[in-house]
Amino acid sequence: MSPEAKGSALLVLNAGSSSLKFAVFAVEARGLTQRYDGQMEGIGAAPHFTLRDATGAMLTDRRFSETEAPKGHEGALGVILAALSPLLDGASIRAIGHRVVHGGRDLSAPVMITDAIMAKLHALVPLAPLHQPHNLAGIEAAARHFPGVPQIACFDTAFHRTQSHAAATFALPPRFFDQGILRYGFHGLSYEYIARRLAAEDAALGHSRLIVAHLGNGASLCAIAGGQSRATTMGFTALDGVPMGTRSGQLDPGVVLHMLDSLQMTSKDITHLLYHDSGLKGMSGISQDVRAIEAAGTEAAEAALDHFAFRVRREIGALAASIGGIDALVFTAGIGENAHGVRARICAGLGFLGINLDPAANAAKGPEIGRAGDPVRVLIRPTDEEAMIAEHALALVGRT
Ligand code: ADP
Repeated sequence: MSPEAKGSALLVLNAGSSSLKFAVFAVEARGLTQRYDGQMEGIGAAPHFTLRDATGAMLTDRRFSETEAPKGHEGALGVILAALSPLLDGASIRAIGHRVVHGGRDLSAPVMITDAIMAKLHALVPLAPLHQPHNLAGIEAAARHFPGVPQIACFDTAFHRTQSHAAATFALPPRFFDQGILRYGFHGLSYEYIARRLAAEDAALGHSRLIVAHLGNGASLCAIAGGQSRATTMGFTALDGVPMGTRSGQLDPGVVLHMLDSLQMTSKDITHLLYHDSGLKGMSGISQDVRAIEAAGTEAAEAALDHFAFRVRREIGALAASIGGIDALVFTAGIGENAHGVRARICAGLGFLGINLDPAANAAKGPEIGRAGDPVRVLIRPTDEEAMIAEHALALVGRT
């Protein structure tokens, strides 16, 4: 950290099943400045540690042999902290912000973690069994490394707690809603970041009718009005909505019943199929990565990209209907920010909504890619979930 930043820093942790991503922000008078980020990938298999500075320059890139591999998230955090320690240069850790996938129905904003909160978060594990346990393991590891340092949980679901009952419910008897079977929605930290950033750029735009397309390996869209989520494509789990890198997205529930009853597939087989072998990867038979699919140019690759674009386009129409129109369409995340061919496929046929791309601006990555003078603005904005978490953490603990 630079000498003037010696005071304090915020650490952001995002623990996945086999990865621990992190970012470090300096707390300065003018606000938060990201200083470092990186990740430990391949936890439990072949760990790979990378650490970058704020310019993106790689400071550490290390693979571990079997004998020296750090154990679990706790071991990974130890390696991360050992690498950060000399860089922190005496700066104290003011707080640690954690990304937590599920906050359930009650937690509609970031919270300071206490024993009671941890108990609540553990109780939500059945709602997100693939993510929540790893998020909680990250919190527990950080609490052991930094006793006494405030830990803050920021939820992917929280931003969507403003959805109406009509938007959040399934058409099931109410007892299921009462048991927590409802559309929670995810990617909330990304949507909140984009909505706040647009509002900071232009207050009128930030409060207008926005549709944000977060298209990465995980993909969803959100209709935002007045800065609040009104509807989103992911539902009870992060499996619903548009197709993704390896996830199927929305599926007629009858297909699952047929797989169980007629194809004799087990729930484990189906879970694996729908989370890991479907979506762009399953359809193309090539990869989950749009770059590889575009390069392959096979019939199956074309079919996968066409279907992906069709479903995203269809959701844009549906979400526009949910908020009575659209003033701006915003693309974000890996595919949304980079894949101009996919953006072009999605927007082709949306002219009826007032959405038309300027092909040159689209190829040049914008940031404004709609045709000049059209009623709907089309924008590209990079998302930054870590910055959103850091902002929330700072708001909860204060500067001093
Ligand atoms: P995650 O959900 O894992 O955070 P990202 O938001 O990083 O995912 O998105 C990763 C995906 O973005 C890749 O799998 C790839 O499909 C797509 N992508 C990234 N860069 C490019 C690019 N330059 N051109 C096309 N697609 C890209």
